[in-house]
Amino acid sequence: MQIRVLGCSGSIAAGSRTTSFLVDAQLLVDAGTGVGDLTLDELSQVDDILITHSHLDHVLAIGLLADSVTRRRIAARRPPIRVHALAATIAALRLHVFNGVIWPDFTRLPDAEHPVLQFHAVEIGQVLQIGRRQIEVLPASHTVPAVGYAVMGGQGAWVFTGDTGPNPALWQRLATLPVAALVIETAFRDDESALATVSRHLCPAQLQRELAKLAAPAEVYITHIKPGEIDAVMSEIAAQGSRHRISALATGQVLSIAD
Ligand SMILES: [Zn+2]
Ligand SMILES: [Zn+2]
Repeated sequence: MQIRVLGCSGSIAAGSRTTSFLVDAQLLVDAGTGVGDLTLDELSQVDDILITHSHLDHVLAIGLLADSVTRRRIAARRPPIRVHALAATIAALRLHVFNGVIWPDFTRLPDAEHPVLQFHAVEIGQVLQIGRRQIEVLPASHTVPAVGYAVMGGQGAWVFTGDTGPNPALWQRLATLPVAALVIETAFRDDESALATVSRHLCPAQLQRELAKLAAPAEVYITHIKPGEIDAVMSEIAAQGSRHRISALATGQVLSIAD
């Protein structure tokens, strides 16, 4: 499988886009501003979107994508795009985004019988079958209900933690799940550790404690660093030393995981 990093930044600036990954061609994981880099043809091929949580930097492109591809999908008689998320996340999206005020309700457009979007509730621990891929819903610990995802490959999974603070349940699960590559957030520097704690994100010191719980050495990619903070955060991480190979994720990077 190929994972194309569309966005891996904690916020926006020129060259910095918020969280989104394209797995192969049909599956999006989160729908941050990085989705805007896809061509109309690429957008039209997306059949499934996995959402980690309701925060704007992860969901804002769902409705924009739906708007872009409506005409094409209807003309091609394509089924609705399935948006998979926790029930609480779906409720938040319906109430606060697809409410006819912030954005139209694309689960009833262009008509209720043939909508462009369809919500599907997931639960932690559930294994989804999407196309030929198996995807497990992982626990996350954030300020709103949140999950991560593991997309299974033949020799290990691509694991994305989503936004999360310290997360013992994740490491318990990963103890028996081979990890080919781990994308984990580090949203703050160590001098902002108090902010990291209240906003349920990680700083380098917390990241170190988390990664110590991952038994086998792994390929680790850091995401969700704020624009302008990448060098500072990555030097704090490098100064710790680690059994794992740790690097900063970059927009446009493609991760290849054996099927
Ligand atoms: Zn968040
Ligand atoms: Zn975020």
